[in-house]
Amino acid sequence: MSVSSLKELHAFSEALPSPEEKMPILFVGHGSPMNAIEDNEFSKRWQQMGQEIPVPAAVLCISAHWLTNGTHVTAMEQPKTIHDFGGFPQALFEVQYPAPGNPALAGEVKELVKSTNVGLNHDWGLDHGTWSVVKRMYPYANIPVLQLSIDYGKPAQYHFNLAKELAALRKKGVLIIGSGNMVHNLGMIAWNKLNEPEYGFDWAHEMNVVFKKHISGRNFKALIDYEQLGAAAKLAIPTPDHYYPMIYSLGLIETRDDVSFFNDKAVGGSLTMTSFRAG
Ligand code: ZN
Repeated sequence: MSVSSLKELHAFSEALPSPEEKMPILFVGHGSPMNAIEDNEFSKRWQQMGQEIPVPAAVLCISAHWLTNGTHVTAMEQPKTIHDFGGFPQALFEVQYPAPGNPALAGEVKELVKSTNVGLNHDWGLDHGTWSVVKRMYPYANIPVLQLSIDYGKPAQYHFNLAKELAALRKKGVLIIGSGNMVHNLGMIAWNKLNEPEYGFDWAHEMNVVFKKHISGRNFKALIDYEQLGAAAKLAIPTPDHYYPMIYSLGLIETRDDVSFFNDKAVGGSLTMTSFRAG
């Protein structure tokens, strides 16, 4: 074996998680689907994150865009790319992300979760909450990607507890990503300010600070009881679809995990892109 290929082999094995090493947990603020095809500060950071963390054996994403009755996991060999949006340029509809699925891992997820009967799903695929981010992190689509749905009738505490049941996957090289937005109020978007950097309403900035404070302080109870966080929280979370993915990421944080924030910015007044890595 040549020196260069030995070096490559070494670099590759270094990137793989060792059995004792746990994969980090991510929460990613995904924002506009255009981040999938635009080279901007947010999408560049996702790309960089993909290079910073160990190469995962698979990705399990909890996306704000798969809300269901009951909890389901994608279990097909080849998930399709779902274009679940309207009014965007044709180029976005042409994006395909042909990452394989992993039916065996889906079965393992079903086995791990004891609190509910997780359904094996063969109809969904990868929605833009997943592929807009994961395509940037792993552009070669060579890592299996699964989605876990959000049982939308259930409260935050349910999702927090369910996430904990997935903890064993971290040691198996599975990268778990919650993909939503901490502050997400589409009805109040300032369309004329979309291109103004870091434009956020006062309440959006206020809640960004509050969320980060509670995450850093591991005060997860306050974040589960988000309805008690006051008037600004009601504006930040008019509906919990984009908030619940973060609850999954929070449920997976362990005491020894360091937490760091990235893409810590507001856009369009009523959205934040604020994201975190734990572990
Ligand atoms: Zn979204």
